[in-house]
Amino acid sequence: MHFDLTEEQALIKKMMRDFAEGEVAPGADERDRTKQFPEPVFDKLSKLGVMGLPFPEQYGGGGADTISFAIAVEELSRVCASTGITYSAHISLGGAPIHLFGTDEQKENYLIPLCTGEYLGAFGLTEPNAGSDAGGTQTTAKRHEDQWIISGSKCFITNASYAENLALTAVTDRSKGTDGISAFIVPTDAPGFTVTSNYEKMGLHASNTTELVLDSVAVPEENLLGKEGNGFKQFLATLDGGRIGIGAMAVGIAQGAYEKSLQYVKVRKQFGQSLSAFQAIQFKLADMAMTIEVARNMVYKAAWLKDQGRGFKKEAAMAKLFASEMCMKVCDQAVQIHGGYGYMKEYQVERFFRDAKLLEIGEGTSEIQRMVIARQIGC
Ligand SMILES: Cc1cc2nc3c(=O)[nH]c(=O)nc-3n(C[C@H](O)[C@H](O)[C@H](O)COP(=O)(O)OP(=O)(O)OC[C@H]3O[C@@H](n4cnc5c(N)ncnc54)[C@H](O)[C@@H]3O)c2cc1C
Repeated sequence: MHFDLTEEQALIKKMMRDFAEGEVAPGADERDRTKQFPEPVFDKLSKLGVMGLPFPEQYGGGGADTISFAIAVEELSRVCASTGITYSAHISLGGAPIHLFGTDEQKENYLIPLCTGEYLGAFGLTEPNAGSDAGGTQTTAKRHEDQWIISGSKCFITNASYAENLALTAVTDRSKGTDGISAFIVPTDAPGFTVTSNYEKMGLHASNTTELVLDSVAVPEENLLGKEGNGFKQFLATLDGGRIGIGAMAVGIAQGAYEKSLQYVKVRKQFGQSLSAFQAIQFKLADMAMTIEVARNMVYKAAWLKDQGRGFKKEAAMAKLFASEMCMKVCDQAVQIHGGYGYMKEYQVERFFRDAKLLEIGEGTSEIQRMVIARQIGC
C-alpha cells in the first residue's frame, strides 16, 4: 500500500489548482453576490478537456480514474463551491448513469456531448413529495405505441437549465413498487417540458438549481435508460458514485476555509501578539488540518475501491457523511477564527460556511447516509 498520487493524478492536481486559482477564484465572490452562473469558466474547462475526465476516451472522455475526478472537484471547490457542484453533478450524476447503463448508441448520442462540454449533465430524481424516500416517485411514464409519455415534476435539480438532455426517473408500473420505476433520457426542449430556476438559496448562489415540470412529454422508446423497472436501482448506484463527488467537494471547501484561517491568524494581532501565538487558536487549526486529512483519505479510498471494480457503497457513504460534517465544523471554526470579520463577506469564509451546508443534505442527507452505513454493517 502507498499513499502517493500517481504521476497522472499529480499532474491533474497541478493543472486543476492552476486553473482554479487563475480562472475560478477571481470571480467567485462576485458570482456569489450576483448569482451569475459560471458559464465562461465551463467554456474554459471544456477547452481544458476535463468535462469527461473519468469517462473512456472512446466517448471523448479523459480516461482518468475516480481519484483524479475527486481531485478535480476538490480543487474547484477549494475556491468556488458553486463551480465544484456544477462540475461534480455534471460528471457523477449527469454522465455516470449514461456511462453505466446506456447502450452504445445512447453513449454516442448523449455521453459524447457531455464529455466535450457541449452542454451540462443533470439528474432528475428528487420530487416535491419524494426526497429521502426517492422510491415514492410520483412522476409517471406510460407507453403509447412506440413512445413513452412522461408527466410529473422534479425539484432541486442541479444544472438542468444548461442541459440539453437529462436522465430522470418515472413510474412505469405502480404495482411493482420500486421495481416499477424506470429511467429515461429526456430532451429538455421537448414540448411540455419546462425548466425553471427560481429558488432563493442559502448558498451555492452561482450554481443552477431547477424545478422541472413534465406535462405529457413524449420520448421515443429507445430513450429508456437501462432495463424497464431498473431505474430506481440504477439511480441509487449512480448516487454511490455521486457521494464521492460530494465528499471531494467537502474536502475542497474545508481546505479553502482552513487555508484562509491559517493566513489570517498570522496577520491579525490581539493582546500584542498574532492570533497564531494563542494555543486555543493553534488547536483549532490543528483539528482542522487533522480532520481534513482523514476525510481526504476516506474520499480517495472510496474512489480507489470504485476504480478497482470493488464494492464501495459503504465507503462512499462514510466518506460523504464524515467529510460533509467535517466541512461544516471546519467552516464554522474558520468564521470563529476570523471573529467579526468572519461574519462579513469580505473574508470569504462566510461564503464557504453557507455553501458547506448543502453537503449534509444533497445526494442523501446525513441521516440517510447513517441508514445506508447501518444496513451495510448488518444492522
Ligand atoms: C442545492 C441542491 C441541489 C440538489 N441537486 C439535486 C439533483 O441534481 N438531483 C436530484 O435528484 N436531487 C437534488 N437535490 C435534492 C436532494 O438530494 C434532496 O433535497 C435530499 O435528498 C433530501 O430530500 P428532501 O429535501 O425532500 O428532504 P426530506 O426527505 O423531506 O428530509 C427532511 C429531513 O428528514 C430526514 N429524514 C427523512 N427520512 C428519514 C428517515 N427515514 N429517518 C430519519 N430521518 C429522515 C432527512 O434526513 C432530513 O433531515 C438537491 C438539493 C439541493 C438543496
